[in-house]
Amino acid sequence: MPVSISTTASLYDRVRRVIPPIEWPAFSDDIDAILALKRERNAVILAHNYQTPEIFHCVADIVGDSLALARKAMSVEADVIVLAGVHFMAETAKLLNPGKTVLIPDLGAGCSLADSITASDVRLMRQRYPGVPVVTYVNTSAAVKAESDICCTSGNALAVVESLGTPRVIMLPDEYLARNIAAQTKIEIIAWKGHCEVHERFTPADIRELREAHPGVTVLAHPECPPEVVAEADFAGSTAAMSDYVGRHKPARVVLMTECSMSDNVAVEHPEVDFVRPCNLCPHMKRITLPNIRAALEEGRHVVTIDPDVADRARRAVERMLAV
Ligand code: SF4
Repeated sequence: MPVSISTTASLYDRVRRVIPPIEWPAFSDDIDAILALKRERNAVILAHNYQTPEIFHCVADIVGDSLALARKAMSVEADVIVLAGVHFMAETAKLLNPGKTVLIPDLGAGCSLADSITASDVRLMRQRYPGVPVVTYVNTSAAVKAESDICCTSGNALAVVESLGTPRVIMLPDEYLARNIAAQTKIEIIAWKGHCEVHERFTPADIRELREAHPGVTVLAHPECPPEVVAEADFAGSTAAMSDYVGRHKPARVVLMTECSMSDNVAVEHPEVDFVRPCNLCPHMKRITLPNIRAALEEGRHVVTIDPDVADRARRAVERMLAV
């Protein structure tokens, strides 16, 4: 059934603060087609907080950070899940929904953190630190998760590390997340040298300049930022925690030291807050577009598959995290 013009118009009302009217006609055809295809294929779209507003607010069924997507993926009734995010997120959705078809619109949507470590690197770390449990950030391949004891996200990393009851923990692969968690716990953290190419570029000088240019601005930083950046910020937390912070504190003016689309997506919900927007784009997240989501649904591509043995072991690590 075709989608009425008024449906698309009401969607535009939602995003008019962040998408100029001149850009909307370039999106509306694909949005109509995607909404119809979702019904035809019994599909849902899961979108990460770093997806652009026309995806996040206009075609997604479930939105959130990695943890929210992982959790909500488990209650999905649809036959098909389209993951508007990067490849490790699509793999996590497949791990938790082995009977469903999981599609990623662009196979090139990777992640610098996920690419920083392999399964054999994890085995080497275990040899070097025998008996020390391995906590792996969800921003990793299924093969790396399969070598781990438990996964974590930036939202639950401290709780996961402290749940293990050991004096030392190996935390892979994000060095800065590991160091930011180490600053909050007595547990010794052994880190890896992986970095997020978006968050590693923020500096303390950026924050000082922002405070000078925008007196009174509240600065929120993602824990994938270097510890010196987190130390200069007013608050550090996952994308979900940053969004909650804005909702609870309603700062007059705020800057989110994270990926660019995050501010747009949170701004839609909080028109009363002024968002200052220096940000860094994630080139991997930006590979997902309305046209390739539409093509994914039309052509059933690209199907995410995981070796069954790897999937069983990786699923255990994710499920242990979800139980914390
Ligand atoms: S923002 Fe960073 S961690 Fe997230 S997908 Fe992009 S490179 Fe990976």
